[in-house]
Amino acid sequence: MAERLRKDLLQKKKIVDIIVGPDEYRRVPELIENSVEKGEKGIAVKLSRTETYDDITPLRREGITAWLSIMRGCDKFCSFCVVPFTRGRERSRSFINITEESKRLYDEGVRDIWLLGQNVNSYKYEDFDFADLLKNVAIAVPDMRIRYITSHPYDLSDKLLETMAEYDNICKYVHLPIQSGSDRILKLMNRLYSVKEYMRVMLKARDMMPGIGLSTDIISCFPGETDAEHKMTLDVIREIEYDSAFTFVYSPRENTKAFEMTDTIDEETKKQRLDEIITLQREISFKINSSLTGNVMPVLVETLSKKSDEKFMGRTDCNKSVIIPRNFSTVDIAGSLVNTGLIKAGELINVEITGANSATLFGNPVQNKVAFLQT
Ligand code: SF4
Repeated sequence: MAERLRKDLLQKKKIVDIIVGPDEYRRVPELIENSVEKGEKGIAVKLSRTETYDDITPLRREGITAWLSIMRGCDKFCSFCVVPFTRGRERSRSFINITEESKRLYDEGVRDIWLLGQNVNSYKYEDFDFADLLKNVAIAVPDMRIRYITSHPYDLSDKLLETMAEYDNICKYVHLPIQSGSDRILKLMNRLYSVKEYMRVMLKARDMMPGIGLSTDIISCFPGETDAEHKMTLDVIREIEYDSAFTFVYSPRENTKAFEMTDTIDEETKKQRLDEIITLQREISFKINSSLTGNVMPVLVETLSKKSDEKFMGRTDCNKSVIIPRNFSTVDIAGSLVNTGLIKAGELINVEITGANSATLFGNPVQNKVAFLQT
């Protein structure tokens, strides 16, 4: 956005004073100072091959959760995506600095970290790959839940799955964008994997870690997608049975290869195909979530529910959000009251799932808290 729209925003529309691209954050103080003191408009949008902000400790937190950037940029050049042009080439932060930052976050009360990157599992620092980093962080902060996003199927190795399976505090959740169920479309997208290869990884993940949460991204109606190819995408959704999916109709981005491709799919068809994908996924999500009713699952309490101050939202290991009452009491087998309490963010508690819709689980604490994670 910063690079693409800078002239429009700064000179034509005159609605902003400073435009900063993703690799020039270090100049923000100087640009603000110039703007406030001298009334100067500022532009800093140069991309860098080396900037990782490794030495800057960001404050990116929401309650007990923190997002920890481990790499920047992307070298994959999917034909529909502007990221390699706007975020630059891949570069990874230091192995040691990430581990140290994880420990610091734990000491400050964080209990759930997301390792972040445009293409997080292509992380490479000296001889260490992403599986090595994940293992190292899991050992360094054993009471921290660790997740990562977003992965590319090309880089999701068996070694990474084995590492996930080995460490309890690495959450059993994989978000792996498939984008299309057709090999021809995947090739046009320059996605570097086939449907068969993708399925192998996902089914292996489920095989190794039963109950794992699986989600994906889908771009419907890529230029030239036929009805048969759309049905192939539906087939993959049926076969894998994702817990959730982020679905979009293709929209062209300037300067990408796909921008030159002729879009022949009419608006009515686009709407219909997207509706079919969303409806199918909702049915599957509802089926999976409903099947969890009656199960007892460890839930890390995160924040107050958006809809009620009397309820909390927590998350299961497999990344399902669960709504639980803030005040709770539990009973023993004979039905006697054995414990009452007020739930706090940061606690890991056992929750019996009592209901579900396609997006959320609902439940009640059933035992004494299984662990106290101090905040
Ligand atoms: S879609 Fe993801 S992997 Fe592909 S170019 Fe964009 S950021 Fe990279």
